[in-house]
Amino acid sequence: MERLQKVIAHAGIASRRDAEKMITAGRVKVNGQLVTELGTKVSNDDRVEVDDVPIYKEEPVYFLFYKPTGVITAVSDDRHRPVVTDYFPEVEQRIYPIGRLDYNTSGLLLLTNDGEFANHLMHPRYEINKRYIAKVNGIPNKSDLAQLQKGVVIDGKKTARAKARLLDHNVKKQTAIVELIIHEGRNRQVRKMLETIGYPVDKLKREAYAFLELGNMQPGEWRPLLKKEVNRLL
Ligand code: URA
Repeated sequence: MERLQKVIAHAGIASRRDAEKMITAGRVKVNGQLVTELGTKVSNDDRVEVDDVPIYKEEPVYFLFYKPTGVITAVSDDRHRPVVTDYFPEVEQRIYPIGRLDYNTSGLLLLTNDGEFANHLMHPRYEINKRYIAKVNGIPNKSDLAQLQKGVVIDGKKTARAKARLLDHNVKKQTAIVELIIHEGRNRQVRKMLETIGYPVDKLKREAYAFLELGNMQPGEWRPLLKKEVNRLL
């Protein structure tokens, strides 16, 4: 037996919270009966309908994907540009990305059909570390990196403490490779942080998400998460 809102979330229809709203709004029926009680438990044999449409209970699936640049973190695009789910033609479940990477950013992206799992990981409370490698124009010095660590103001709000270090630099080309570890997920955060201190980003890649790493995967490749990896993320 599982709670109704969890079953709806697992079907990939809505997050757990939105599923709760659907229930209290009177949009959900179990075996033909309207249910507005949030604690209601249902079994696999119960027929659950949202807006009179039966939900199809999908098995929850979890993937680690190496997103290439030039791909949109979405499940569809009205301008028909490539989207991340194009790389999963053989996956039948309705998966979607957890969080996002910019069109021009490559790297580690998780996808799932488990709304509850996705919501959990995206909640700021859990402060999941994400490690980025940026190629920047110019060579940041120690005090520049210290600014990133203490926090800089982007879009009118200071960023949380971060870790930043110089991995490499090229004096002739005046470029550098910077590693930045942040746990927030604001829009274009890494690009804006580096830009703010005077080092515009040329290339950006996310190498790690929590304890998960790309390892020697190639852009466009993916693998299912192991059960123990899923459990460790929760
Ligand atoms: N920060 C960025 O600027 N871009 C991303 O895609 C992710 C983090």
